[in-house]
Amino acid sequence: MIFPKGNKLNSIIPIRYPQCHKGKFLKTFVYDLSRFTAVRNQCDCCGLKYRLEPSFYFGSLYVAYGIGVVLMILITLNSYLISHTFSFLTTFLLICFVMTLLGPYINALSKIIWVNIFFSYKENHSIKKN
Ligand SMILES: [Zn+2]
Repeated sequence: MIFPKGNKLNSIIPIRYPQCHKGKFLKTFVYDLSRFTAVRNQCDCCGLKYRLEPSFYFGSLYVAYGIGVVLMILITLNSYLISHTFSFLTTFLLICFVMTLLGPYINALSKIIWVNIFFSYKENHSIKKN
């Protein structure tokens, strides 16, 4: 881990559960397009259930929206800095391309950020034994 123990980035960047930073959060890898929205209901490592209520991950849409807005601003600024002119069509197409390319990753990122708002790292989490 690059960040100090307990830092939320240790959960967000590798997309691992926030309580133990070890259990996989997604059911499959990010770009498995048939199931890229599927998350595990329970951590394999510590056994904690992360779905607090029905439609719990609905709130992650707000996080995804924020990530999308930041990305659009960055793309627009980069487009302007590289070409020194502003072309609405070029910038729009570039934003569409990048958003399509990063869509599954933004989906996973927004969900793991959303879960990290409600759960924190615990040093001595209970280890689930099956
Ligand atoms: Zn866990």
